[in-house]
Amino acid sequence: QIDSDGGIDYMFKIVLMGDSGVGKSQLLHRFVKNEFNLKSKSTIGVEFLTKTVVMDHKVVKAQIWDTAGQERYQAITTAYYRGAIGALVAYDITRRESFDHVEKWLEELKIHADKNIAIMLVGNKSDLSSTREVPTEVAEEFARQQDLFFTETSALDSTNVESAFHGLLCQVYENVI
Ligand code: GDP
Ligand code: MG
Repeated sequence: QIDSDGGIDYMFKIVLMGDSGVGKSQLLHRFVKNEFNLKSKSTIGVEFLTKTVVMDHKVVKAQIWDTAGQERYQAITTAYYRGAIGALVAYDITRRESFDHVEKWLEELKIHADKNIAIMLVGNKSDLSSTREVPTEVAEEFARQQDLFFTETSALDSTNVESAFHGLLCQVYENVI
């Protein structure tokens, strides 16, 4: 049951952050379209995708911004962060370096984004557990220290993708109401 009659009650701008290659674009496509692009080079210049969800009887439109590879050159513009009230910061569980860089991405958020921004830390590629370099407990502990929400996902097999975005959107919702 929805309170509003067809309209959008809330619009949330969410930004994706994290090193190049961790799976940000695939996570977004999995969440919004339930697709995994096997042969995409995924530098398709899409700025954002939207998905409408119902939360607490309200219609929430999530506008989720993806980078077009600028993260490789630390060239994310301030426009990217402007108005964002949620961030999904991703690393690749098989690349320790991408986890070590999470702090750098959090620092970027601290500098450029709203100070009340909700942040979800996501360890992606959980399907590749045989080549894991970041133990779950290490990331959990880091998330606890930084006061972040945390989950591990696989854009490839869909594990936890829906719940990661949902958890983030719920947190954003809590912050705005
Ligand atoms: P981005 O640079 O962070 O946007 O990363 P992409 O979404 O372009 O993904 C980078 C590479 O990782 C691509 O080859 C994807 O197919 C692959 N990839 C993304 N997510 C997953 C995943 O959950 N599991 C596996 N095995 N590969 C993934
Ligand atoms: Mg990408």
